[in-house]
Amino acid sequence: METITPFIEVIDEIKEAGGEIFKMCFQCGLCDAVCPWNKVRPFSMRKIIREAAFGLTEIEGEDIWRCTTCGTCPAQCPRGVKQIDVSVALRRVATEYDVFPASVKSARTARASLISEGNPLQGERKKRADWAKDLSVKTYAEGMEVLYFVGCYLSYDPRMKKVATATANILKKAGVEFGILGDQESCCGESIRKTGSEQVFKDLARKNIKTFIDNGVKKIIVSSPHCFHTFKNEYPEFMVNFEIVHMSQYILELINDGRLSLKGEFPQRVTYHDPCYLGRHNNVYDEPRDLLKKIEGLELVEMEDSRKKSLCCGGGGGRIWMDTPREDRFSDIRLKQARKVGAQILATACPYCITNFEESRLNLEYENVLEVKDITEIISDML
Ligand code: SF4
Ligand code: SF4
Repeated sequence: METITPFIEVIDEIKEAGGEIFKMCFQCGLCDAVCPWNKVRPFSMRKIIREAAFGLTEIEGEDIWRCTTCGTCPAQCPRGVKQIDVSVALRRVATEYDVFPASVKSARTARASLISEGNPLQGERKKRADWAKDLSVKTYAEGMEVLYFVGCYLSYDPRMKKVATATANILKKAGVEFGILGDQESCCGESIRKTGSEQVFKDLARKNIKTFIDNGVKKIIVSSPHCFHTFKNEYPEFMVNFEIVHMSQYILELINDGRLSLKGEFPQRVTYHDPCYLGRHNNVYDEPRDLLKKIEGLELVEMEDSRKKSLCCGGGGGRIWMDTPREDRFSDIRLKQARKVGAQILATACPYCITNFEESRLNLEYENVLEVKDITEIISDML
């Protein structure tokens, strides 16, 4: 049965999210033309915007949950419509009504785990720093050069722990005086906010901000573009400003400053995938590529849909926690694009992208022809 949200609530939520800007939509359909969903199945953001303008959105279906917040359509809309804000506002209404389609229900497990343990992966809070147990990584103390904010996937996910280890190895080799927060670290909250759970986001953000302030943190280096985005662009809503640097930028800086040097040759054909929240949302396109170009023997090739047009992996907007049928996965298309340019390695710099790509690699049976690596893993092997 269709649930029609009362007019006034949708309008109020959207006004709060994007002012009257959604009413400027002249239904040109460009958002639909550029949306990655239309590479796998029909989906219309144009229709959502039109219905939202009239307060008639059907909140029980899948469509309000599809947007991965990839940022492609807002960057191209001729009328400056804030499509992502509209999507998130509708999800807030659905969350308030507790109305979720079956494919989205798994995101509620992530939400419950965020509330109880501070991470979406059902890991125990006290085990957050277990990945670093044998690596003699210090706990952050005031006066250290940088705080390494590890993030949830790198703390708990077995595949991503390898990236955390590679990162710690690089920082140590460069002689960086860094520390982690261990069980004091909570999820940055970026993705849960995009699913409409605003209060959970605010609670996580306040907890992290208090920890940063209590520990005298000034400069934070991060592995995840989602942490990067929310610390840089959303935490200032709480009247705080920390210096935030993504690992790709930081490692490049270490090399350029002569603190880190790479050894040996890496005769591999590599292609780089721009994560949405590093590239489109924050304009970090060059540093990861410049970093890869520092490696002797590495041949860097570009896929179609690169840089501003990068194809989303499908994991943003909380979709990483939702069920996406195999035939609907953008990550499968991305792996095929990597193969098309003859890449032996698909490199990226985001835990969601790696998680989705690793799954597609298995599904497509590419285990013997294509590796998926975080750029820190490649750098760590060259020290
Ligand atoms: S691209 Fe902008 S103006 Fe065109 S249909 Fe989409 S939201 Fe409306
Ligand atoms: S932000 Fe990306 S996923 Fe969302 S509607 Fe626009 S193009 Fe599609």
